[in-house]
Amino acid sequence: MRTTLEARVVIVGAGPVGLTLAGELGLRGVDVVVLESRDEPSTESRASTLHARTMELLALRGLLDEFGELPHEPLGHFGGIPLDLNLPSPYAGQWKVPQTRTTAILRTWAVDLGAVVLDGHSLVNVTTTPSGIEARVDSRHGSRNLHASYLVGCDGETSTTARLMNTEFAGRSSDRLLHRVDVTGIDIRNRKFERLPSGLAIAARREDVTRVMVHEFGSNPADGRSDSTFDDIARIWKRVTGEDIRSAKPQWVNSFGNASQQATQYRAGRFFLAGDAAHRQMPVGGQALNLGMQDAFNLGWKLAMAMCGTGDEDLLDSYHDERHAVGARVLAGIEAQASLLLGGPEIEPLRSIFTALLETESVQMQLAATISGLDIDYRRERSSGQSTLCGSRVHPDVVASDPRAADDLRRGCGAVIDSRPDCSPRRWQIVRPDGYEECAGTGSSPHSTFEEWHQFTQFDREPQRLETS
Ligand SMILES: Cc1cc2nc3c(=O)[nH]c(=O)nc-3n(C[C@H](O)[C@H](O)[C@H](O)COP(=O)(O)OP(=O)(O)OC[C@H]3O[C@@H](n4cnc5c(N)ncnc54)[C@H](O)[C@@H]3O)c2cc1C
Repeated sequence: MRTTLEARVVIVGAGPVGLTLAGELGLRGVDVVVLESRDEPSTESRASTLHARTMELLALRGLLDEFGELPHEPLGHFGGIPLDLNLPSPYAGQWKVPQTRTTAILRTWAVDLGAVVLDGHSLVNVTTTPSGIEARVDSRHGSRNLHASYLVGCDGETSTTARLMNTEFAGRSSDRLLHRVDVTGIDIRNRKFERLPSGLAIAARREDVTRVMVHEFGSNPADGRSDSTFDDIARIWKRVTGEDIRSAKPQWVNSFGNASQQATQYRAGRFFLAGDAAHRQMPVGGQALNLGMQDAFNLGWKLAMAMCGTGDEDLLDSYHDERHAVGARVLAGIEAQASLLLGGPEIEPLRSIFTALLETESVQMQLAATISGLDIDYRRERSSGQSTLCGSRVHPDVVASDPRAADDLRRGCGAVIDSRPDCSPRRWQIVRPDGYEECAGTGSSPHSTFEEWHQFTQFDREPQRLETS
């Protein structure tokens, strides 16, 4: 059976990144179909950390209430060296939430805003047409064609979209593995990044489940991948720590490498990549998840404006310019952390120097800002310098000071923040829908700019109809 479906944007992958993007587009009335290979949402306990900037963005959209009270950790680490994440943000630090919960909340949000999520549907091929793209989608019911204007691959580290786009990845493959197993039924002491003579050992107990992670120094699997079993990991744990955990009951076994690869282009015409589909990195401290969700916050409003006819090619290109540069910086930081974490005794001199440097406030603040995503300034990130957008982060307190602007941003629109007429000097700021500054000034309000910007970002126009062949 072959039937034809239609949407304005197709998102491949209902992981946290695809669902964030679906919600962002749904907010602006763009009709979206999300394809998801799995029949049901994943139950794997992957990333468990939301960082400050992601929390700020979720707050901007009024989504934080859905998460309820979250466990908070003010301290993070850089390559296992303790790092204070206390920065000027209402959400400084790490917020602990299982990825399954984040994904479930985002899915409800996106679906409530009109996104159609097709579970059990896989993208298998895609072609361009004069008016857009045509995707071939397989499910157990057969094959379907899906016409759309744009397709965004949020399909994770083994992205089919990236393969179909012939995307080149720059970087290096994995040559070291960190093994992980979640177990029940044992009582071992917690270990926080413990460096022992022959390896690195981590153990953290939450309720009944202990997460055990281990790396044996100098073990370099040829292909950087592993299909290690619980028995293999228990043997490595014994060699590194001397402890016997073989009596434990494994819940989830998983090993990951230190690969660091980034798509050289996040956009090719009507195709985009976001999240792990665009960058593959070692999952240290939840940075991959946060980086990916912020890709989606950056792309959503730009794509919606393109659909409404107010966004142009430069605006769409600015997604690559801005997010590729941020990704490159974050990946470099993760690589540095992987070396500090997984390096053997030869890395100790570097670790001592790093530990000393981290006592300097400016170094600590800089690394904390990068990990938290608070150092993003799109004026700096854009490599080409051709884009006209501004881009420093607008502090949440500034947004909160203007209820009308806060409401505009919650609805996914751009906003104008104008200080009270009695403030001296009077200051105005135009804020992009993703909470970064478009432009700012002092003096009396430039009404024409405000009007233009409001018209540009309010999404009160019908998105352009897709012509189908
Ligand atoms: C095994 C594993 C363990 C991890 N552990 C941690 C951790 O401990 N800490 C941490 O910070 N980060 C961890 N990560 C990283 C973190 O989970 C990812 O950064 C995050 O999930 C990225 O989100 P995403 O939406 O880009 O991709 P994903 O979450 O991978 O979602 C992609 C989705 O696309 C779907 N899909 C794939 N191909 C197709 C197709 N052809 N058609 C339709 N759908 C498709 C997949 O089924 C999947 O649901 C881990 C990742 C993995 C894979």
